[in-house]
Amino acid sequence: MEVKLRINHHHSKTVTIADVCPNCKKPTNPHLISSDYISLDNSRNSVVATFRCLGCKHFWVEEFIATERHINSQTIYNIEHLEVIPKLPSDIPISEDVELVSPTGKQIYVQALKAEHERLDHIAGIGYRKALEFFVKDFSILTNSEDEEKIKDMPLKQVIDKYINDDDLKTFALASAYIGNDEGHFYRKNPDKDFTHLKKYLHGVIYYMEKRLMFLDAQELVNRSKKS
Ligand SMILES: [Zn+2]
Repeated sequence: MEVKLRINHHHSKTVTIADVCPNCKKPTNPHLISSDYISLDNSRNSVVATFRCLGCKHFWVEEFIATERHINSQTIYNIEHLEVIPKLPSDIPISEDVELVSPTGKQIYVQALKAEHERLDHIAGIGYRKALEFFVKDFSILTNSEDEEKIKDMPLKQVIDKYINDDDLKTFALASAYIGNDEGHFYRKNPDKDFTHLKKYLHGVIYYMEKRLMFLDAQELVNRSKKS
């Protein structure tokens, strides 16, 4: 459906809104309730419009950015429809370095955290287990790139045994791998431990990765200056 929205003092622009209600997911004629704009900077306005579904009677908002452009002494406006997806924050710091090494690991971790917050305990457990696997494997591949294919196919426990060179963490990580296996399977071998333990171990793994990455970075710097 097309609606006209005020984008600044003098101008309105036509925008297209999907004919489906984001709340009840049914086809609807979105009913425009109100709209407004706020200046972001000299050339851009943030535009918001509130709609109501005539079916389920609930409201929702749509956001746009109106950008002013000057071409051959004419002023034109570009309208961008924003899809606002809440960015899920992590409950522990995960550095950009770790994210660079294991982007999927971080994504899964944050999704598992969201599941935990929604009290979806079983999903959270499986999620943390999966995040652990990605963090450990991505990190092991980074430091042992010649074994990449082997590492991908190896069971997590073996990867930890072979490639994690920190005794404390190995105990830590193995324990979490055991617990993690339980989360993913029908039968629990360690019913006294749940995903909160797994999560603690997982934090240990992430902390270890941070430390090692800093060390590798420093080592590379030292080696480079030795050569030059
Ligand atoms: Zn609706």
